[in-house]
Amino acid sequence: MIEALYVHIPFCKTKCHYCDFISYPYFDDDLKTRYVEALKKECIIIENKLKEDIKLKSIFLGGGTPTCLSSGLLLDLLLFIKDFFPLQSQTEITVEANPNTLDENKVDLLLRGGVNRVSLGVQSFNQRLLQNVGREQDIESIYYSVELLRKKGLKNLNLDLMYGLPGQNIEHWEETLRSAINLNPEHVSAYQLKIEENTPLGEKLLGGEIKEFDDEKALEMYKATRRILGENGYQQYEVSNYAKVGFESVHNKVYWLSEPYLSLGAGAHSYLPPSRIENLGDVKGYITNLEANNLPPREEEFQDTKTSMSEFVFMGLRMLEGIELARFQAYFHKRLEDVFPRALEKCLRWGLIQIDKGHLRLTDEGLYLGNLVFQEFLLD
Ligand code: SF4
Repeated sequence: MIEALYVHIPFCKTKCHYCDFISYPYFDDDLKTRYVEALKKECIIIENKLKEDIKLKSIFLGGGTPTCLSSGLLLDLLLFIKDFFPLQSQTEITVEANPNTLDENKVDLLLRGGVNRVSLGVQSFNQRLLQNVGREQDIESIYYSVELLRKKGLKNLNLDLMYGLPGQNIEHWEETLRSAINLNPEHVSAYQLKIEENTPLGEKLLGGEIKEFDDEKALEMYKATRRILGENGYQQYEVSNYAKVGFESVHNKVYWLSEPYLSLGAGAHSYLPPSRIENLGDVKGYITNLEANNLPPREEEFQDTKTSMSEFVFMGLRMLEGIELARFQAYFHKRLEDVFPRALEKCLRWGLIQIDKGHLRLTDEGLYLGNLVFQEFLLD
């Protein structure tokens, strides 16, 4: 059964200097309209082909910046999806938004379209640091957006934050955390900036204009995140995610639990075990294929069982509750201990994982060295 749907909107107002996502700042309204029509067509064609039943507990419009679409297009898309796919009784419907893309009318229509969770891309409350990474948003627009969303009745708000920005120190980061907490969101995601090749920041790094962020400083920031959010009622439930009780992200848990999900749009990735499927990333190619009633070209990788097991483990270990050993066994008809004896022995000996009440989970130390653990399970 498929219970989660991701819809990719590959448009942004401007391109951040660290971004390697499929998102473009230059398409016009006509192309955006054609893109939404293509998405609807993809729903219809794919639904006919799916062998699995579908009943959604989560719909996630991500990007890019979905709120770059006009209010009318967003409402049209949301109503179509909600009408087309069967939903569970309390479906989480999330839209990613950037502060400079919301106004009264858009928020009204988002909520009318059934959106009950907004994930706002804040990243930092420091204007200079935002400029350093090419994010064109003023701090005032963050406050304006949050006030607007609350005024219109939104009850579930996530703020996306980022540490490890060029020029950022621990005081900047703690200030950003406290500013976020003052806005009282239900959920906070706090990721470290990763500088990718083929991005303007990647080129600056290569040319020596900026340096790799210092590991010790990043660790200090990570520890501060856990402490400050923890002291303020946010429970860490994943390596980089924190929530008030009852507000964990339904959608992201689908990924961490290795449950199947369907994704639509240019460059979107689906997981329909045992296959991982990636749609063509070219927006115009995606549209023209669907306008001709064809699915866009897709790359499909059939995963062997061992790869699925490794992914199950390293995705599951991201959650603080860890992996339920009985669930692994029910899924793969093998005991995790028999599949990964070496990784298990090493990481236990290093004190990076623990087995407790039928769960395998990272220790505090393991949280800081998660990549080392994930690697061991990939190699075993
Ligand atoms: S807003 Fe997000 S998707 Fe758009 S350019 Fe910036 S990082 Fe990329």
